[in-house]
Amino acid sequence: MKVYKFGGASINSIERLKSSAHIIKNSPGKILVVVSAMGKTTNALEKVAEAFFNNEQKKALELFEEIKTEHIELAKNILKQSFQTTLAELRDIFTEVEWLLHDTPVKSFDYYYDQIVACGELLSTIIFNKYLLEIGVNSKWTDIRDVIKTDNTFRSGNVMMEVVHQKIESVIIPIFEECNVLVTQGFIGSTDENESTTLGREGSDYSAAILGAGLKAESVTIWKDVDAVMNADPRIFTDAEIIPFLSYAEIIEMAYYGAQVIHPKTIKPLKNNNIPLFVKSFLDTSLPGTVINNDSQKKLPPIIIIKNNQALVSFKSSDYSFIEGSPYKKLIEILDSLNIKSNLSQHTAISYLISIDYSEEKLIKLSEKISALFEMNVEKDLQLITIRHYTPDTIEKLTLNKKIILEQKTPQTVQFLVKTTIDNYRQ
Ligand code: ASP
Ligand code: MG
Repeated sequence: MKVYKFGGASINSIERLKSSAHIIKNSPGKILVVVSAMGKTTNALEKVAEAFFNNEQKKALELFEEIKTEHIELAKNILKQSFQTTLAELRDIFTEVEWLLHDTPVKSFDYYYDQIVACGELLSTIIFNKYLLEIGVNSKWTDIRDVIKTDNTFRSGNVMMEVVHQKIESVIIPIFEECNVLVTQGFIGSTDENESTTLGREGSDYSAAILGAGLKAESVTIWKDVDAVMNADPRIFTDAEIIPFLSYAEIIEMAYYGAQVIHPKTIKPLKNNNIPLFVKSFLDTSLPGTVINNDSQKKLPPIIIIKNNQALVSFKSSDYSFIEGSPYKKLIEILDSLNIKSNLSQHTAISYLISIDYSEEKLIKLSEKISALFEMNVEKDLQLITIRHYTPDTIEKLTLNKKIILEQKTPQTVQFLVKTTIDNYRQ
């Protein structure tokens, strides 16, 4: 058994959807296929959820209409025999969302977000599965919300692994007795009460890893629009190079520091079950891609990760008490409650500094919650440069003419928080 994951970019046009489907058709053995929402559907659905929550019902319905049309058009264009039955299935999903959009919001935004946004994956997988059937793949569709059970932390559901493993046995395994390919959704799950939840943006990789681990899959492959994992973003660094082999330990650090290769939560379930992860190009399947497993790699090039739109937030204890101990504990609790994650942190005797992804809304809430304890200061428009396996050369190249605000160094990793200048690294 293998697990394949196809992201939004691999099904965002007729050609891409067809070629992704042919990758499956040409792969022998049993395959669980985890698929994201098409292209930018999740972003579009987020707009629907926002309009609905702001009581702009008409706008929400109009925005949703565009998403409907896009999916119907795609289905019409690629399906020959099964368009009508597919349309009926798509309409069931549309109706569910529209019912909700006719309500007035009385629960939290995050709750509605998940009920609305989850439909992106349901729609894409219905169409994808029907196309696979039309090209002769013995495929079945299943609703993963019956398997990926989470708590009710909407927008960031915590997966209940034990329940999921039981559900894999009782729901997924029996389906595979009747088919070779099972198409299902990434990113979504459901609570005990069968309310939809999502696992956080880009969470489909994580879904694939959870399912791979539960199935004791021989491998998990993430099909992407890049040749392999690279040591830097090739859109910014023209000399970026492919990394053919990586250890779980290295990739988890890369993902943590913000490399947008895979979702950071993906690695743990795979590592714990010793399942290799392949990152491969759906545009050119002959390329070897990257293999990620337990083997440690001796010679890695410097790995560069750039995070834009950072804010440096500094907290100073108002009464000059030391930051360690109880003020620090309280601060961490407050940051946690607002889902604010630090990408870099440092502390001195009476102050604590963190670099976070800038969000005005979160910073306003934070300053309200924190004002009794700390003086808070924010510096925005910063960029966080992380270099793993740094060399003097890379440091020099990346910090040349930059105003360094904060710096942190360990034997493997150096991080610089710098003032953003325009068009930083284009060569
Ligand atoms: N469709 C979701 C997103 O765009 C999940 C994913 O693509 O992995 O975030
Ligand atoms: Mg995606």
